Amino acid sequence: MASSTGSRGTTKVERILRDSGALLEGHFLLTSGLHSPYYVEKFHVLQHPRHTQALGRLIADNFRGAGAQVVAGPTTGGVIVAYEVARQLGVRSIFAEPGDQGRVFRRFTLAPGEKVLVVDDVLTTGGSVQDVLAEVRRCQGVVVGVGVLVDRSDGVDLGVPLFSCHRMRIPTYQPQDCPLCAKGLPFTKPGASA
Ligand SMILES: [Zn+2]
Repeated sequence: MASSTGSRGTTKVERILRDSGALLEGHFLLTSGLHSPYYVEKFHVLQHPRHTQALGRLIADNFRGAGAQVVAGPTTGGVIVAYEVARQLGVRSIFAEPGDQGRVFRRFTLAPGEKVLVVDDVLTTGGSVQDVLAEVRRCQGVVVGVGVLVDRSDGVDLGVPLFSCHRMRIPTYQPQDCPLCAKGLPFTKPGASA
């Protein structure tokens, strides 16, 4: 199991998420197709530079010794997280955006052998992060780890060291097993990334 999740600053991180109204309760259809009674609206956090800075510091500090030369994130929220973490590490920041398949570094070049820290906002199925990992490897970059603001996955194994500022156990359901659907409650599909 390559996942190791940090717990530093958990109380502070929880407070940031709650104070910024990022934790939404209801009945949500996630991009993965699963249903959930909770949704993390990361832009409620990312709209506040001071919150982004505080969370970015946890990721930057965790990987400070890893030798990253570039921080890369997926569109959309990952662009902001990558920029802030890169700023604190004093390195370059790039982002991967949708291509013909997956995501690509359309506007940037990555030199073979460059060490890359991959970051994102909320880890759910890991799809967006996997896109960036694949693109880094296609460019022959070297992934030193993955850092996310919130890990709400079931413990997805990305095959590289994983750090999250905060880990949440949030239930998700297949639509046919969803207790909220069973109660006849309508669901909403929030503006989401994978
Ligand atoms: Zn449902």
